[in-house]
Formats: sequence, C-alpha cells, structure tokens
Amino acid sequence: MKDKYKIINDYLNEFCFQNDNTFFFHNLVPYFVTSDNILKILKENDSFIETNHKYNKGLFDNDYDDDIYLDGVESLYIVRRFIKEKCPMYLDKLDTFIKNGTFDFTDSHEHLNMSTSSYSYTNKHREISINLHHNYHDPWTIIHEFIHQMNLTPEGYSDSRIVLTEGISIYFETLLFKYMEKLGYDKVEINRIRRYRTVDCFYVCHMLKDHILILDSYLKFGNISDNTYHDRNKYSLINWTNKETYNKAIDATFKELEKRLINPRKESGYLLGTLIAFSAIRNNVDIDKFIKLNSKINDTNNILGCLKSIGINLNMDKELFQSFKEEIISINKVLTEDKKKL
Ligand SMILES: [Zn+2]
Repeated sequence: MKDKYKIINDYLNEFCFQNDNTFFFHNLVPYFVTSDNILKILKENDSFIETNHKYNKGLFDNDYDDDIYLDGVESLYIVRRFIKEKCPMYLDKLDTFIKNGTFDFTDSHEHLNMSTSSYSYTNKHREISINLHHNYHDPWTIIHEFIHQMNLTPEGYSDSRIVLTEGISIYFETLLFKYMEKLGYDKVEINRIRRYRTVDCFYVCHMLKDHILILDSYLKFGNISDNTYHDRNKYSLINWTNKETYNKAIDATFKELEKRLINPRKESGYLLGTLIAFSAIRNNVDIDKFIKLNSKINDTNNILGCLKSIGINLNMDKELFQSFKEEIISINKVLTEDKKKL
C-alpha cells in the first residue's frame, strides 16, 4: 500500500502543479455534486445502464460492434450533406481536409486506437484520425473530431477551450443525429449510438467522484494515506461511504495511473460538455452561436461569458439536469419500444 500511496501522491503533486488556477480546480465541489446527480438520473431513467444488455456493447473502440452496415464513404457523405445544409461556412474546410489527407481512417477491428483530432505545432500538421466501426458510430465520430479540428490553432489554446470544446462537438453530433433521423436513417440504430454519450457520462461521473475526493483531500490534508478517510470524517467533509469504498477508489486510481488513463480535468469537459449541448438543443440555441463560439474559444478565458453567449447559465443547474434527463428518457423510449418488438 505504501508504494501505491507514493505513486498516487507523486501524480497528485504534478497534477496540482500543472492545473493550478484552472476552471476545473475552482469547481471541484460543483463537479462532485454534478457527478453524483447525473449518476442518480442515469440509474433512475436508463433501464439498460447496469445490465449486460446488447445496447451496452460497442461502447468503446476495444469493444467494437459486430453490426456492419455503413462504409466510411457514406459516413463522410452524411456529414458533408449535414455541413452543407446546416453550416455551409465549414464546407470548404471539410472538403480540403477530405482532399488533402487530413482525415486518416483506420478499422476498429484491426486497430484499437481512439479517434482523435490533433495539430502538431512544430510542423503545422493537422490530422483527424477516425477509427471506423462501419455503423452510425462513424458519422458521429467524424463530425465530433472535425469540429474539434476547427478550433485547434497554431497559437495553442486556452482554459476555455479545454472546458468548452467537448460541449461544442457534442452539440454538433446531437444535431447530426436529429438530421439523420429526418433523412430517414434507422431510428433505433441512431438512438442506440446516441445513448453512448449518456453512458459515457456514467463512467466519467464514477471516475470524477473518486478523483475529486482524492484531489480535494490532497489539497486539504497533504499526502494521501491510510488516515485520509478518517480525516474527512473528522472534519465532516463529503466522504466515501466507508473505508472499503475508499480503499477501492485508491486501488482504481492506482490501476488507472499504471495505464496512464487519468485526466480528471479532461473528463470534466465531457460531463459539462454533455450538459451544455443537451440544454442548448432543448432550448433550440441557434447553430450560428456555436459556430461563433468555436471561432473565438481560444481568445478568452471568460468561460462564464462564453457560456452566456450560447444561452447557458450554470446557476440554473436544474435546467441542465432536466435536459440530460429528457435526453435519456427519449432515447430509452425508442430502445424500449424496439425491445418489445423482439
Ligand atoms: Zn471530443
């Protein structure tokens, strides 16, 4: 256990040094409370969440889907048609990326890499790497990564980009699914893939809940040790349910650190991003506001101002939770009806 604590404390020391004074650091408690609420909403409203149902298959690239029915060209065609119609100012860029090889397609059956959007600042090289699943997962990934690429700049990026870029991409992917539904693509399949976003929040929130308490303990009491759980109790702070769940969180953190998987600040972007996107869709926030935000996201660190520009007020968190809940209910309705047919 001693070695485990040393590795965790070394990581925390570095993490606090690198991320000090960021939006994430200033909002640890709200992120904890939000994660807790989202987990409750998921458990109450997603009837498949804690089962081994087929709808939970294919969620990650190393657990790929066997259902093959869409080739990469058609996925690109769907995205291009959507961009041409809903956001024509991005069409030239999309076409350039298609023609000059910025898109790099691999097959998830052969490669276990995640899809990414990157920019090399040294040789000014852009790459959108898409791991194809050959189903509706692909247009979803293509639009998501393409929108990220539109806010990557040679000048680097700001705290507001880290906080908001996932929200912008998730807003576009959700709009794309609505567009595909209108075009007549299979509704059950669309909702099966749409559900990945809410299920992803399930894992993100579990991870955040544990890490935020570990981080918060480190900031309050210094190095994490066998006393940490008792220290939190002593000062009546939000705590793990018992010593056993504390030990589990420490073990999980250690394992993730070995695999270098931990980045709670990045993960918090998926959580907040999902809430922002669903709320904006529910309130019919205009796509132009998101395009405008995407173009100036690196010029400012005024995160609350950016959110205001797309009609989001973090103090109205009930509204954010309600939008998330409605999204799950609507997805589950389609999937449950499909289940009845079987
Ligand atoms: Zn992303």
